[in-house]
Amino acid sequence: MRCCPINKYLFITRHLLNNVFLFISFFFIWSQYFKNKEHLLDQSSPVRIRVLYGITSGVLGGFLIPFIMEDKGYIPVDFQNLAILISAINGGFLCSFITGVVISFFSIVFGLISYQTLIMSITILSISISCGIISKCSVQKTKKWICMIISSLILHFLFMNIVLSTEKINDTICKTFIIYSILTIIFGFIIYYLCEYINQSSLLFVQFKEDSCRDFLTGLNNVRNFNNLFNDLSKKAVERKERLSLIMIDIDWFKKINDTYGHPSGDEVLKQIALILKTACRSFDIISRNGGEEFSILLIDCPNKQAMEIGERIRKAIEKHEFIVSTGEKINISVSVGVTTYPDIVNNVEEIIESADIALYKAKHAGRNKVIPYY
Ligand code: GH3
Ligand code: MG
Ligand code: MG
Repeated sequence: MRCCPINKYLFITRHLLNNVFLFISFFFIWSQYFKNKEHLLDQSSPVRIRVLYGITSGVLGGFLIPFIMEDKGYIPVDFQNLAILISAINGGFLCSFITGVVISFFSIVFGLISYQTLIMSITILSISISCGIISKCSVQKTKKWICMIISSLILHFLFMNIVLSTEKINDTICKTFIIYSILTIIFGFIIYYLCEYINQSSLLFVQFKEDSCRDFLTGLNNVRNFNNLFNDLSKKAVERKERLSLIMIDIDWFKKINDTYGHPSGDEVLKQIALILKTACRSFDIISRNGGEEFSILLIDCPNKQAMEIGERIRKAIEKHEFIVSTGEKINISVSVGVTTYPDIVNNVEEIIESADIALYKAKHAGRNKVIPYY
């Protein structure tokens, strides 16, 4: 029984729509799974991420088994090329090429080795290379996308001509290709905009997550993140029977700096203190701005003696440092420091914060510009 042409075109459209939904689901799952800064895909992502994306995207493309019009000649009608295009636009040449290689492999395996599948694999590879090259051009992303769609359609058309060179390209084949081209353009843009939307949402998510943990002025951990990290580290310290030291730092007479040189100068001092703390600490120490002009450092597996030495090093560095404020003047300031350690000084890990605060209070009362341990 022959099906009428309208039904055939509807069938192709439905088949392509299924491919579109597969794409969107894949991209959404990828962005959800890798929703952190390191894994968001762009041309500067680490090589392993681009390779991983290239492979997964290729597997996806491989699963978009072509709908093939065998009765009217060998015309593959599928969106495998869009898998390559998405790889190229987001991950660049490497991603695009790997996706092309994986899809070609799938085509050969599923289509069995034949003249047609071989030509099809070459077409897929050439699309991946041309899109990879286009991805390198320094033009607007949307323009790159248009060029990629056009080049993939041209290569697809050339391939069709090679395969069908011995046969007459009849009316149905031409119509199929025209419909396929129109659908590629329409769905190509739908997929492009949806992927862009998902990308933007993931970026915003990463940015908001980052902002919710960071102090906007100094870039250090804010008090919310300090509390979360403290809870984690104190639990680990108890479980692993490790030491955990806390240094609390408060700028002396900070109000006077604001009153004398203005609030922007006070902000400048806070930023410079943050830099001094970063220089004085180990890369894995947790430095936070706990509010106003108060800072803290959580020292993982650090005995009290060493924490006192680090506290003293910081106090001296700040005392010696010439702070250039926003009026251009150079000023000197000092800090008071309180130090405590679990279990060297306090037996209960929950007492760490309170005991460091008490030690800081004692440093203030002992005349400021001092490092005092809890006792
Ligand atoms: P002490 O030696 O006892 O700590 O005296 P202090 O003046 O440093 O302490 P006080 O608590 O009296 O004043 C803290 C000041 O810190 C008051 C507030 O205006 C200022 N401050 C808090 N947050 C910021 C900020 O983000 N930027 C600036 N410039 N100042 C801030
Ligand atoms: Mg102060
Ligand atoms: Mg204070």
